Amino acid sequence: MLNARAEERLNELRGMLIGLAANEGDMISLMREAIDSWEPSDEFSKRGTVLTVGDGIATVSGLYNVCYGEILIFAGGVRGMVEELKRDHVCCVLFGDDEPITEGSSVKRTGKTAGIPVGNAFIGRVVNALGSPVDGKGAIEAESYMPVESPAPAIIERQSVSEPMQTGILAIDSMFPIGRGQRELIIGDRQTGKTSIAIDTILNQKDKNVICIYVAIGQKASGVAQICRLLKENGADKYTVVVNASASEPAALQYLAPYAGCALAEYFMYDGRDVLIVYDDLSKHAIAYRALSLLLERSPGREAYPGDVFYLHSRLLERSARLSDKLGGGSITALPIVETQAGDVSAYIPTNIISITDGQIFLESDLFFEGQRPAVNIGLSVSRVGGAAQTPALKKASGSLRLTLAQYKEIEVFNQFSSDLDEATKKQLVHGKNLMYLLRQEQSEPLKVYKQVILLVAAAENVFDSVLPEEVAALKKKIISAAEEGIGDICESIEKSGKLSGDDRDRIVAVAKKCVGKE
Ligand code: ATP
Ligand code: MG
Repeated sequence: MLNARAEERLNELRGMLIGLAANEGDMISLMREAIDSWEPSDEFSKRGTVLTVGDGIATVSGLYNVCYGEILIFAGGVRGMVEELKRDHVCCVLFGDDEPITEGSSVKRTGKTAGIPVGNAFIGRVVNALGSPVDGKGAIEAESYMPVESPAPAIIERQSVSEPMQTGILAIDSMFPIGRGQRELIIGDRQTGKTSIAIDTILNQKDKNVICIYVAIGQKASGVAQICRLLKENGADKYTVVVNASASEPAALQYLAPYAGCALAEYFMYDGRDVLIVYDDLSKHAIAYRALSLLLERSPGREAYPGDVFYLHSRLLERSARLSDKLGGGSITALPIVETQAGDVSAYIPTNIISITDGQIFLESDLFFEGQRPAVNIGLSVSRVGGAAQTPALKKASGSLRLTLAQYKEIEVFNQFSSDLDEATKKQLVHGKNLMYLLRQEQSEPLKVYKQVILLVAAAENVFDSVLPEEVAALKKKIISAAEEGIGDICESIEKSGKLSGDDRDRIVAVAKKCVGKE
């Protein structure tokens, strides 16, 4: 049996010969000429035929020079993306309902790889993984079209991280500072405040000239709606784009969403802007990709994930960068989120992503339930590059906070076994406990740099040790308002210059001591 391709070619030749026969002249020489000068056109391969369809996957034959990642249009306008090239057919993941597509129905090539429209008008909107608005506020005017997959900036096009990306969370900015262009993983069990940290960081970017992109992958639509509401209430929607591929959407869209968000972020980065992108969360992304891969009949590997699951996330996170000044100096800071099972950071996906990122904020259930929120585990969290970007005042004020807390954690364990402790150890315990209370912070209440500096300076002088742990929260407020009143000039200068002189420090200490009645 002739295959469809050969048949198409024969038909084409037949058409030409019939056309020629109508002309006068020597039939044989005309035929020879026609055969010699015949060039196959690629017109025939623009259409293909659906062989099978189901589970959001369609196999298509007849598209001979189609490329990997190309978008195809199916019956009913449903779009799909070529994900697998086989010898005589291609497999395609569908971005919509496969209801109108039937065996034998026709498929059209677009010649374009998957991409999304981009532009400044996207700021403040909620879109799906294909860049279409889903917030009911009408069409979005695009300025350009970006491919969802694109190579990461080369080393020569980058510069090192040097500017801070303030999260407004005391426990993070003081001990695990994040720089613009960094990738910092937020990892923890379910319901440990992972999303809250990312959202607080977005809220803290108000008036800081940073564009935020929140990519929700495989979450409940109601949860995403709640986040959108929270952003709006705090005025953060004005500089934020939400890309949503909720749990009810096809796996293909959930797979595409982070790349689409990243393409949007790249548009702003190459425009010289600073971007913060949150991928919430990549565990669900890996699961969506696993589902797709199994349906595409790729061989399963460890935990049934396909062999390229590492590449899935590395090529995404590698696109975060701080560009060189020559390229405009823009940046993409990424906060990927990963959910662990029973605190197991050594599982497959968590270890993969830990090794790709520049550090992680590890959130612990036990701490969360004790009331230590945000539940940052100090021993397991790290920021590998942000130190160079930390605001000098914060660096000076936080000093050896991390070490002090690590020592506290150690003697706290010992304390459970012995009751007669010496005076110095008792003091250390009180200090450590109060420091832990100092790091507690309510949701949606990011702290400005000067507030963090004042609290850290006061803590380093043991000011908080003179009250009970439960009173630390009230004392924090008291010290901050006393400082704002008494030494407003210092607050302002810290916020503006990010520096803290020895003299400023002494004045902060004096104000803080006054609040606890110690002159
Ligand atoms: P999931 O695994 O479901 O995505 P998550 O780890 O993202 O959860 P969140 O949704 O951020 O966790 O938070 C879980 C709950 O804890 C929420 O109800 C939130 O309001 C509360 N919470 C988070 N951070 C704090 C905080 N700093 N203070 C008080 N409550 C908090
Ligand atoms: Mg969450």
